Amino acid sequence: NTSLHELDPEVAAAVDAELVRQQSTLEMIASENFAPLAVMEAQGSVLTNKYAEGYPGRRYYGGCEHVDVTEQIAIDRVKELFGAEYANVQPHSGASANQAALFALAQPGDTILGLDLAHGGHLTHGMRLNFSGKQFNVVAYHVDDSGLVDMAEVERLAKEHRPKVIIAGWSAYPRQLDFAEFRRIADEVEAYLWVDMAHFAGLVAAGLHPNPVPYADVVTSTTHKTLGGPRGGIILARKDFAKKLNSSVFPGFQGGPLEHVIAAKAVSFKVAASEDFKERQRRTVEGARILAERLTAADAREAGVNVLSGGTDVHLILVDLRASELDGQQAEDRLHEVGITVNRNAVPNDPRPPMVTSGLRIGTPALATRGFTAEDFAEVADVIAETLKPSYDAAALKARVGALTDKHPLYPGLNK
Ligand code: PLP
Repeated sequence: NTSLHELDPEVAAAVDAELVRQQSTLEMIASENFAPLAVMEAQGSVLTNKYAEGYPGRRYYGGCEHVDVTEQIAIDRVKELFGAEYANVQPHSGASANQAALFALAQPGDTILGLDLAHGGHLTHGMRLNFSGKQFNVVAYHVDDSGLVDMAEVERLAKEHRPKVIIAGWSAYPRQLDFAEFRRIADEVEAYLWVDMAHFAGLVAAGLHPNPVPYADVVTSTTHKTLGGPRGGIILARKDFAKKLNSSVFPGFQGGPLEHVIAAKAVSFKVAASEDFKERQRRTVEGARILAERLTAADAREAGVNVLSGGTDVHLILVDLRASELDGQQAEDRLHEVGITVNRNAVPNDPRPPMVTSGLRIGTPALATRGFTAEDFAEVADVIAETLKPSYDAAALKARVGALTDKHPLYPGLNK
């Protein structure tokens, strides 16, 4: 019964320092969020001790009567949330969900068609060093000069290569995809359509983004980005894919499910069905729009800052720094200096290497969860624009960040 602080002060100190970092900076990594205390309570519960290979009611271990309850609640809630016939809540992460989904739909050596990583796709959509790129024959589609997914190219490549699976989804793209058009193309070439909604699932749950479930054969997601739950993955699908997907997750790729995380997923799905959550997602999208507006204003453009696709429909913007004196790394470092955390990101046809890049990805989910309003996001946008100018006053900008973090305390009461 020794506390973490007593048993392991080194780890405890780092955890405490991370809490203070989250509290005292502006978290604007588009894939991050702040999980509610109730979610963390479930995740830190005794359920971590339980082995439960199998699925609710069909386990390979005794004593599963309680984790059966939490896992079934998670399944029922997420099906309801997204209108899905089938759900698997066991994938340990988004990448695990994608691996299980892809191997349920295709065999190694089959052709898959996904968005190029350098144009906003994810590693698991066919990157060379990822399982998807190593074991499948990858064909990639791209965004066009206006920064939008080139659906004419998707159709042309689909007809030319006849992929087994077409992947619609992204990690860095500021617009909505046309799921109906993806479905039409998939039907035309008899491909499966897999939508990876990891980034925008929270917006879908709130009704602010089209739901891919009615169009796709399989939909995967993470639970920790806009959805705001614990780190993890889910798979949704039509009933006829249930058997294949269940066996692909377990025993295909995973052993014992993380029942503590699954309970935390269940809690987060309850939260995601609430009015408060919808209101938070509305502020998330509104915040991203405000950032896009401010960073396309004349003085930002003069400093060489541009916004890819000219704006956003979702929870993030992509900043194009090709005309700036700063590269992606320098801009990320400079924002870090004033207390804003973002990640550098390649722009399409980026002249710089992936570790440097010429862009930034900036997201609003975590700040919206913290309670930021339109007015606060306007101030955040101004601070970012000022920071990216050739001359900037780091101390003054840091003080403005401090005023914002003080205005919206995060996890008050958790500090030791
Ligand atoms: N799919 C997409 C579109 C993502 O953006 C990500 C994470 O960045 C993942 C899958 C993978 O999720 P995880 O990091 O949980 O493996």
